[in-house]
Amino acid sequence: DTKAVVPIESLDSLSVKSFPLCMRQLHDQLRLAHHLKHGGRLQYGLFMKGIGVTLEDSLRFWREEFTKIMDLDKFEKQYAYNVRYNYGKEGSKKNYSPFSCLRIINETVGPGDCHGCPYRHCDVSNLKNKLQGYGLDPQAVNDIVDVTKKGHYQVACSKYFDAVHSIDLGLGINHPNQFFEESQKLIKG
Ligand code: SF4
Repeated sequence: DTKAVVPIESLDSLSVKSFPLCMRQLHDQLRLAHHLKHGGRLQYGLFMKGIGVTLEDSLRFWREEFTKIMDLDKFEKQYAYNVRYNYGKEGSKKNYSPFSCLRIINETVGPGDCHGCPYRHCDVSNLKNKLQGYGLDPQAVNDIVDVTKKGHYQVACSKYFDAVHSIDLGLGINHPNQFFEESQKLIKG
């Protein structure tokens, strides 16, 4: 595997353009609340692994956030295992793959959860506020909301991709990590 290593110091800036909305909102929520529930840790953790964050960096990333609201001891006992598990270092030692859009869209999402696909699981007015808050072009926001209401979640995601990159590609998005890779290709040229 020749994939480049992504340092956690670059996640804030990467999240703005190269993360699809499902991952951007998890990243934002983690920074804001210094915590994510299990579904969010799993979805975001596997995505991070997929983009090239090492296990050591991943542990450091979650530790730095979680220990803002809990003891290091509690983090190590209750959460570090799951981070290592995502990397296949615990339990059945499977090499878990990052989730596809289909998998994420079909997730069950409860109150207080931030995982899932925002086009599928967010209230439309919240989605609209979020996109406006990110400074997206008003016409693009309306387009995204329109296709979302029709249930075309991955088309909405593709329109979001175009809006944040100021381009008109109309990619078919079927995986958050594909979104990331296509974005990096565009940005790095
Ligand atoms: Fe994430 Fe896929 Fe939903 Fe886009 S369509 S926000 S990549 S789950």
